[in-house]
Amino acid sequence: MAGEPMEGQRAEIFRRIDGRFQEFVDDLSAFARVPTISAVRQAEREGAEATLKVLAKYGVGSRLMEVPGGPPMVVGEVASDPALPTLILYNHYDVQPVDPLAEWAHDPFDPVVRDGKLFARGVSDTKGNAVAQALAQAVIREVAGGLPVNLRVMIEGEEEVGSPHLGAFARKHPQLFRGDGATIEAGGHTPDGLPELYMGSKGILYVELRARTAQVDQHSSLAAVLPNPAWRLLAALRTIRDDRGRVLIPGFYDGIARPTREALEWLRRNPFDPATYRKTYGVTDVLGGDTRLGRLRAYCYNSTCNIDGLYAGYVGAGSKTINPAHAFVKLDFRLLPGQRPRRILARLRAHLEEKGFGDLEVMVHSMFEPGATSISSGIGQAVLGACQDVYGREPAVFPWMGGSSSTWFYTSRGTPAALPPGVGYSGSRIHAPNEHIRLDDARRAIKAFAALMLRFGAVARRPAAATGAQAARRP
Ligand SMILES: [Zn+2]
Repeated sequence: MAGEPMEGQRAEIFRRIDGRFQEFVDDLSAFARVPTISAVRQAEREGAEATLKVLAKYGVGSRLMEVPGGPPMVVGEVASDPALPTLILYNHYDVQPVDPLAEWAHDPFDPVVRDGKLFARGVSDTKGNAVAQALAQAVIREVAGGLPVNLRVMIEGEEEVGSPHLGAFARKHPQLFRGDGATIEAGGHTPDGLPELYMGSKGILYVELRARTAQVDQHSSLAAVLPNPAWRLLAALRTIRDDRGRVLIPGFYDGIARPTREALEWLRRNPFDPATYRKTYGVTDVLGGDTRLGRLRAYCYNSTCNIDGLYAGYVGAGSKTINPAHAFVKLDFRLLPGQRPRRILARLRAHLEEKGFGDLEVMVHSMFEPGATSISSGIGQAVLGACQDVYGREPAVFPWMGGSSSTWFYTSRGTPAALPPGVGYSGSRIHAPNEHIRLDDARRAIKAFAALMLRFGAVARRPAAATGAQAARRP
């Protein structure tokens, strides 16, 4: 099936997406009722079954694949023709916990439409994208009689806890992760409705450091002769990062490549300015200097050592004089392509040992490898074209998103991968109370997914050198 004639049918495809939009809202609402909270391993099987049901409704033949130790992976295929490029669509059916529950205006698992927005846990991250993609491909098939790509849909059940079993699953089924291109969840929109494209995701190493200096808490007078674990932990933290945010672990920055000229040019054209966080979050200082580009560059190209939580001793009302027995800190490092979480972990341990903090316990909570793809790849070009088709303009292009996802499982197997504009926007409150999507964004995102499939069918068929498709075929 040729790509060009199908693109000619685009207007009709968009018209039918408008006509079936309420179906999207209804199906997403039903899907969002299933409370698959992976952090507490709740409703896993139900979530997987609900995913199968959504895909089946839109004609995607799919199956559950067991993931040893974790919830099942849902894998769907729409095979058109072995000669056509394969596009993989990755999402997840699990969601984040919903507390603090009191801050939700509605029950998080009882979806509500209000003021042009759909509220429920998971509607943005990422059940909405899964339903949007299912509808998009169904409409293309309805109008054109087939797809210009072979689609593989992969929807997992524990992304929100760092996909701890996906690595083993990918080693067992590497062929599932190989294609000519992949979309990883999706980006979103700015508050003004400008689409966003992320050409990858940062990695993460999430650890907890624990200092224990005694079996039990003591009267604080004993601090005259006994050690204090909070001071010990603080002393260790001071050796890990300096006041300017620079990480002091030897070798931490090894392997990071300088930004390419192409990536910097796209950043220059990207209108986003992290200075808007002053208003969004009520902060006075945004790092990265006096220029928008400087701040944007810092946002994209800084790796971080962030303190997520710090705990020791008495933190209740009033005073209590104790010398606590233990203290702990939760730390996450956001990593750039070239940095490997396992290597950083080994260097962190060696650094603590070397600085005299070998007694601290280091617990690992989660890791994701960073992964990125050039925008000149077939998937990058297809998303750019799709944004012209739907929004009539280019998206805000980022080299990667600041968060972490499963990108590397695909890119490390030679599959170029990107996060195209999805149903959410920067105010969607993912992971927070009152998660929602704006229905106007969602309507355009469904069209953008359809346009992406049409464009990818055309782009990825050109000679491999121009599209990166050859790299994707590498074993
Ligand atoms: Zn998430």
